[in-house]
Order: sequence, then structure tokens, then C-alpha cells
Amino acid sequence: ETIPEMMAATVARFGPRDAAVFSATGERLSYYDLDREVDDLAAGLLALGLEKGDRIGIWSPNRKEWLLTQFATAQIGLVLVNINPAYRLSELEYVLNKVGCKALVTADRFKTSDYVGMVQTLAPELADCKPGKLRAAKLPALRIVVRMGSEPTPGMLAFGDLMRLGGPAQKLRLPGISAALDPDEPINIQFTSGTTGSPKGATLTHYNIVNNAHFVTRAIGFTEVDRLAIPVPLYHCFGMVMGTLGCVSKGAAMIFPGEGFEPGPTLAAIEAERCTGLYGVPTMFVAMLDHPDFRKFQLGSLRTGIMAGSPCPVEVMKRVVADMHMSEVTIAYGMTETSPVSFQSDVDDPLEKRVATVGRIHPHVEVKIVDGEGQVVPVGEQGELCTRGYSVMRGYYNDAERTAEAIDAGGWMHTGDLATLDAEGYCNIVGRVKDMVIRGGENIYPREVEEFLYRHPKVQQAQVFGVPSERYGEELCAWIVLQPGQTSSEEEIRDFCQGQIAHYKVPRYVRFRDELPMTVTGKAQKFLMRDAMIEELG
Ligand code: ATP
Ligand code: MG
Repeated sequence: ETIPEMMAATVARFGPRDAAVFSATGERLSYYDLDREVDDLAAGLLALGLEKGDRIGIWSPNRKEWLLTQFATAQIGLVLVNINPAYRLSELEYVLNKVGCKALVTADRFKTSDYVGMVQTLAPELADCKPGKLRAAKLPALRIVVRMGSEPTPGMLAFGDLMRLGGPAQKLRLPGISAALDPDEPINIQFTSGTTGSPKGATLTHYNIVNNAHFVTRAIGFTEVDRLAIPVPLYHCFGMVMGTLGCVSKGAAMIFPGEGFEPGPTLAAIEAERCTGLYGVPTMFVAMLDHPDFRKFQLGSLRTGIMAGSPCPVEVMKRVVADMHMSEVTIAYGMTETSPVSFQSDVDDPLEKRVATVGRIHPHVEVKIVDGEGQVVPVGEQGELCTRGYSVMRGYYNDAERTAEAIDAGGWMHTGDLATLDAEGYCNIVGRVKDMVIRGGENIYPREVEEFLYRHPKVQQAQVFGVPSERYGEELCAWIVLQPGQTSSEEEIRDFCQGQIAHYKVPRYVRFRDELPMTVTGKAQKFLMRDAMIEELG
């Protein structure tokens, strides 16, 4: 099935019934209306001369335009390239050139970010070119820049005008183009989060993501009566595959609490829209649970949802079940390269498995756990997690070398994550291979120490990583964010650990921070913390 086929089926099932999309700005749309606007945009894109296979970037926080662009590009076979809204000039330039984007849809501004201004800085030629006819020295492939908002800008096309650009001729072509799409064709280049270094562009097909979206929302028991709050970024597969496509596949409603995540408005949207499901990365759930007004929100409508994206502490999961009424919440594990989810608990799994493991392997995906030599390890032992099946990406775009490092000749995706599987198939993610710390010959898995630190009542967030040491090879360091209003000391934290965990796992250094370096997808960027500590320690 292709994305437009899936959308058409949902529109046919529900027609103009109640609204299906709700945004923070008060917008309400049924699937039927959404589909009509998608057609307008698709016709406009055709009028610009864009054709199947052309790459088109989108650089924006969560907005309605994002949703329209996602489905309009899919309808005519354009390859949508997700660009991290946190990017700045050099990263934008890198991504646009890496995949040769012919068009870019950009937000106008968001918070302190002036997107239009940054595009103008990168392509000063816009000032005296006609819209659609750009020739920029730094962005050789780029011809078209579409901007959100209504201020006229030289060389750029306004999004609203683009919606009106397509005429009857383009509209007539749409059904034929959609019908001729092949599910095995690439439809997205999704960049990874950049947690461990520079992001990689995973090439994904309709088949990859349509199927994954289906299985993800099936595992949480979603149907057309469900209403999902989506505070996770659309730029990432958590939002654009598990979120939007997942809802379309079931005819469920999507609620966007805001352009970027904020705990208060998200809680308010759940209450106001009576959401039954909620997605988030662990730090988002923590921010909501610790919100000063948390108790004031009526969250009784919540039933299920997904925590995913980075290690999900058991303590946090328990609070989500008890305090957010999400008795059927699941954890999912995946990566951009596998469309994304490969493990997920199921609503039918016992609660203790749902809060403490990432569940079992998804349907139609194979799994193995291997040691350093590539040999499968015995049940219960840890090794690198490898997955194989329909969901594995085509490859990193135009990067055969990195693709060959990630996917072996047998089609196995090497995830770079350490994991264990128990006899029943429940999986535990131990951490990233790259993050394992070797101190004086002892292997330390930071995740384990983090889980322990979370038991300290003053600790809100904890990240543990290794820093180089002449004596031990590496020493352990913890960066901690305390609960609001709390103070603590290095000694207090180390004393808390002494005698409770093995001496070599007690962090040698403890630092308190107001916030931690995070990707937009809520992942702690340990490489930045490590760099900062190396500098501090000289
Ligand atoms: P990059 O590859 O650019 O360094 P990234 O790996 O964070 O960034 P994503 O594809 O967004 O980019 O994230 C996938 C990774 O997130 C997984 O490989 C895993 O390390 C982590 N992850 C996802 N879900 C979970 C989970 N439930 N528990 C633990 N880790 C998880
Ligand atoms: Mg990765």
C-alpha cells in the first residue's frame, strides 16, 4: 500500500464526519477536508514542475503546513526530506546539499529562530530571482523556496499562494500519478537524531513506513474512536510515522498541542480534547509529571500511549501508569533506519513487562543478538541487537559506505544498541555500544547507573558517561538535573551510591546542571557532555 492509498481508504471510511485534526491554534479538520487541502497543495507542487523522485525539504516546527506537505508530497511521489527545526545555517546547508533538495518548504519564524532569514543568508541570490528560479552558489540543486506566513519575500513563494497555484489541469493529473506510485519507491529521507554525531539520512519507502505505522498503533489498540496527543516533533519518525501515519491508518484523531513541546499546554490539550493516547520521549513525560499544576489537569480520558526514543526509566513508567491513568501504556524501541519501531510492548502484556522492557519483536521482523564476532549469544546474555525485515531502510542516501557498515550482506541492520532477550522474547535495551564505559577493565553500562540515580528523590534527570582517564582508561561521570527547588552535592550523590552499587560504578565526578544538551527528539547528547568535561578537567 502507498501513503495516498492509505489516506484514501480512511477518507472513504469517514468522509466529512467529525474533525480529525486539532491544532493548538484552534484549527479543526476532518479527514475529508484534510484530503482536499492536500490535493490543493499537491496540484500546486505539480504546477511548480516538481516530479516524482524530486527531493523536497521541510524545515519547520509542528504546524498544519507540515502535515499538508507530508501528505501532498507522498501523493505525487516527491521524496520528503525532514530537516531538524533546531538546525542552523551550516547544518541546513549540509542536509540540502547532501540529498540535493530541489525545493524547500520553510517556516517563517519560531521562538527565537528566524528561518526565512537564515535561508536568505545562505542564498542571498533570492533577493533578485523569480520564485522557482533560484540559482544559489551554496545550494546548487535548490530552485524553489516556499515560506510559511504571509509576508511577501523576494524570490520565495508564500505557502498560501502555492495552495492556489494548481489549476484544473494539475488536479486532473493527481489520481493518475497516485495510482502509478509503487510502494517500494522511496518517499522519505529521514535524518537520524544526531545523538552520537552527525545525522544520517535514512531512505525509506511507502512500504516501510505505512506498515510500521499500522503495527505501532495496533499494539496500543487504537481504533477510530481514539484521539492521540502528538507533542513529539513531526520532523522525526516518532511524529511523522508513529504519529500522523499511525492515526491515518486507524482513522484516529490527531491533536497537536503546540508547535514545540511544552508540558503545560500539552496537559491542557489532553484535558480539553479528551485524548485517549499520548506519545512522548521520557523527558517529556517527566516534565509533565513534575509540572507544578499537574494535579489540576483532568487526565481521566487517557488510556494508552507510547514512551520511546531513549531509555525509559522504570520509575517514570510507574508514575505514568499511576498518575496519568495510562494503564495500557507501552514502550517502543526503534531507530529511524527501521521505519522506526521494531520492539514494542503490547496492551496485553503484563504490567511489569510493560514498564520494564521494550516488549517483544514486532510482527514480520526478525531479531538476533550477537557478540563481537557476530555469533548469536545464549538467551539472556547481552550483545548487539540486530533486526531484519520489511522495515529496514533502503540505505543511507548516497552513502554506500555507511550503509554497508549498518546493514550486512544478510540484510541485518546492526543497531549499535546493546540488548538482552529473555526466554519469552522480552527485550531490554542496555545502552548504546558506543556509550559503554570501560573503567580499569570493568565494563560499565551507564543506563544501569542512571536507573539507580533516578531512585534518589532529588534527582529529576541523570546522564552517565565516560571521560578519559590516564589511570583507569575511563572514569565515570554523572550530570544531574535536580527536582525544582532542590540542592545537593557531589558527596551526597556519591554517598547515596556507596555500598548500593559496585564501587567502580559510583561516578567519580558528579555535576549539577540546569539542563542537559538534548536533541529535539529528547535524547541526551553525551558526546557534548563528554567534550565539556574533558575541557573542564583539562
Ligand atoms: P544518531 O544515529 O544520529 O546518533 P539516534 O540514534 O538517536 O541518533 P534515532 O534514529 O532517532 O537517532 O534514535 C534511535 C536510537 O534511540 C536507538 O538506536 C536507541 O539507541 C535509542 N532508543 C530508541 N528507543 C529506545 C528505547 N525505548 N529504549 C532505549 N533506547 C531507545
Ligand atoms: Mg542512531
